[in-house]
Amino acid sequence: MITVLVGPPGSGKGTQAKGLCKHFGLAHISTGDMLRDAKRRGALAVELVQQMDTGGLVPDEVVLGLIDGRTQAEDCRRGFLLDGFPRTVPQADGLGDMLEARKQAVTAVVQLDVPRELLEERLIHRRTDKATGQIYHLHYSPPPQGADLEHRGDDQPAAVKKRLDAYESMTVALLPYYQARGLLFRVDGVGAPELISKRIFAALPITS
Ligand code: AMP
Repeated sequence: MITVLVGPPGSGKGTQAKGLCKHFGLAHISTGDMLRDAKRRGALAVELVQQMDTGGLVPDEVVLGLIDGRTQAEDCRRGFLLDGFPRTVPQADGLGDMLEARKQAVTAVVQLDVPRELLEERLIHRRTDKATGQIYHLHYSPPPQGADLEHRGDDQPAAVKKRLDAYESMTVALLPYYQARGLLFRVDGVGAPELISKRIFAALPITS
């Protein structure tokens, strides 16, 4: 089973990905997490760090290379879920070619639909606990007093705007791409995470 989760930044892809992977026994592959990890280890070229921090996309060949290697790992044998990849039509084409060469194909694409105003609100007030990795929202899910918090560089207002613009100008084009292939399942991404999970399970053509 190869599932793709498409949605704008802040739409809750990471949270939903965890539940889906647990349920179906899939490996969770987030290109954003992989790139942040490479950045922390000092393994990412300066220009790529800059592109990430200012809310731009890194080049297609960089993420395609990451995905090619990662999806051949042992934990992907039962299947995997792609979170935040593909984000452009060339990435989707690259993924399709890569899978075809391995006699595999994408099983389903879930799109989380969330209005832009809500996304801006969510991202700008998002904070991560540096010690635990737990994500908080300054108003709706406030962090405990004294927590050592990180405000991601790309969650600053100017970068948030750029990320949402990139989603609208490049990633939205994936929707007709996958719809034409009969793979797209749209889900309302507004509401409590548990409610959204239920909607995803109801929409997916696969149950176990
Ligand atoms: P995310 O956590 O998925 O929002 O990703 C954080 C940042 O990593 C993005 O703003 C991009 O700079 C970069 N990134 C992650 N995935 C991709 C991708 N598929 N294509 C290009 N850039 C990506």
